[in-house]
Amino acid sequence: MVRTGIATVCLSGTLEDKLAAAAQAGFDGVEVFEPDLIGSPLSPSEIRILAAELGLSIDLYQPFRDFESVPNDQLERNLRRAEAKFDVVEALGAETMLVCSNVSDDAIDDDGLAAQQLHALADRAAERGVRIAYEALAWGRHVSQYDHAWRIVQAVDHPALGICLDSFHILSRGTSLAAIADIPADKLFFVQLADAPHLVMDVLQWSRHYRSFPGQGGFDLADFTARVLDAGYAGPLSLEVFNDVFRQADPRRMAIDAMRSLLTLQESLQAGRSRHLPPPASLHGYAFVELAVEPSSVGETQRLMHAMGFVQAAQHRSKPVALWQHRGVRMLLNAGAPGAPGIAAIAVESADADRSAERAQALLAPVLSRQRSPGEADLSAIAAPDGTSVFFCRTDTGSDTRGWLQDFDPLAPIGRSASTGLIRIDHVALAQPFDYFDEAALFYRSLLGLEPRESLELAAPDGLVRSRAVSAPNGSVRLVLTVPVLAHDAAQPAGLQHVAIACGDIFLVAQRMRERGVGPLSIPDNYYDDLAARLDLEPDLIEVMREHYVLYDRTPGGEFLHFYTPIVGDRLFFEVVERRGDYDGYGAANAPIRMTAQRAPAMAKEAAFAQQGARAKPAEREGDGG
Ligand code: MG
Ligand code: MG
Repeated sequence: MVRTGIATVCLSGTLEDKLAAAAQAGFDGVEVFEPDLIGSPLSPSEIRILAAELGLSIDLYQPFRDFESVPNDQLERNLRRAEAKFDVVEALGAETMLVCSNVSDDAIDDDGLAAQQLHALADRAAERGVRIAYEALAWGRHVSQYDHAWRIVQAVDHPALGICLDSFHILSRGTSLAAIADIPADKLFFVQLADAPHLVMDVLQWSRHYRSFPGQGGFDLADFTARVLDAGYAGPLSLEVFNDVFRQADPRRMAIDAMRSLLTLQESLQAGRSRHLPPPASLHGYAFVELAVEPSSVGETQRLMHAMGFVQAAQHRSKPVALWQHRGVRMLLNAGAPGAPGIAAIAVESADADRSAERAQALLAPVLSRQRSPGEADLSAIAAPDGTSVFFCRTDTGSDTRGWLQDFDPLAPIGRSASTGLIRIDHVALAQPFDYFDEAALFYRSLLGLEPRESLELAAPDGLVRSRAVSAPNGSVRLVLTVPVLAHDAAQPAGLQHVAIACGDIFLVAQRMRERGVGPLSIPDNYYDDLAARLDLEPDLIEVMREHYVLYDRTPGGEFLHFYTPIVGDRLFFEVVERRGDYDGYGAANAPIRMTAQRAPAMAKEAAFAQQGARAKPAEREGDGG
């Protein structure tokens, strides 16, 4: 089994906080980052003892900079510098020290000189029982590619000198990975893993601010990792991630996120290299979505549900939770939920709910202990990073298991509700707290076995919003996660959540809703004029969309028609969607229109408010005319 490691630079807090968080998340070892050590009140040997008590090995001390390819009169001073660090490495019990390729403008472009000086360093290291892992930084002055660093290590040919392969430095440069197979296993001293989104920017800034844990960016870490393992690398797979958001997040949470990324990465490698994870069970849609509704907005939420064609079908036997249903589409309205209003829980139909829960636990998801009365169904539930509960259930259970529906007492139908043709919950959009986005995407994806889809930046009226969709291979469960690119007030539209419901005839739903007194969110005429200008749509279709405030998107294989409801409470609305053909997206192109439309009433409200304040002399105002 491959050992796991994490660099202390990945986590926030003091060195003690970082070590405790790494141990708690189950890492085997750590890389001690020099600034963390220098800032610690603990001596290196005390750090060694603390790590040992926590069950962590110290696998690497890093970084040692700007050593090689210097004028020869500087060599002795650099070796003295190195000797002092060997003392630290020895006291830490670390064995290996990382040396990055020189980034100084004074470095000399001479591989022979680099080899000669690294040989001298390796000699000194060997005397101390220390190994040197030489790493090509992507922005190294003369050595910036791993295969170049490897040629120098080969030329040195010293048992105390090997190579460190860092996935970021290699994949960010697009260097061919073929040469990894040529490196003998005993020269692969260390491997660092980091993912990153594809960005076009200075590679140093890219590395220092945007690295992420494997599976959170755009690099093929599975291929990279498989290659180093195939080459015989036997050391730890160690995460080295510099990230602005992670640096300010709770280190315990981040360490768990980091471990989850490694477990998921290992799962994607060949069998035998990973800890056993129960495979994801196949999902068959949403069993229900539970909405936490503050008492003041219960009425408007009920009116909206009714307008959409839902009826209150049952009441929970022991909780203030009502089941609203339209055929097989089920929503729970919880008027007594302790948390913030919004989407409190999502429940997915799992072919094997127990295995889904086991997988969640193996991926370090906190299992929720639930208040449950005798005889009530024992639903497996876990807590997502954003606080949403995730249930695994089977609504159509055999006689051996109690289904969750049996916890509800059916209500006698009140009046008749004509069907609006809602079919299923299409997707759930969860706004994430600012520093939870990458973590949440990996969480839902790995636990539920979802695949990453659209990842976009959208221009909302109050700022940029990042959006990422994840969905089951069969499209039965879709989630859209959003987060403001810059942290700001969560009450802005970026913080809104929605549940999208699929229907067979979008215009019928819009019509029925109007008849029941709740029309869709109004969309400006300009939108429809623009649609007519850029797409060759039937004018009649555009007119009926304009009338019902239906938005439109299409791909070569399909179309997407959708509208939004007004917001109920502070942060919740619904979307009704009609998918035609093989359209697989979410109408993201229309999201900025929606966010602006949602902003408009808020601004009108504020303006009305301001005007009321200014109406000290109403008669004069009326006389303004014009
Ligand atoms: Mg590195
Ligand atoms: Mg949506």
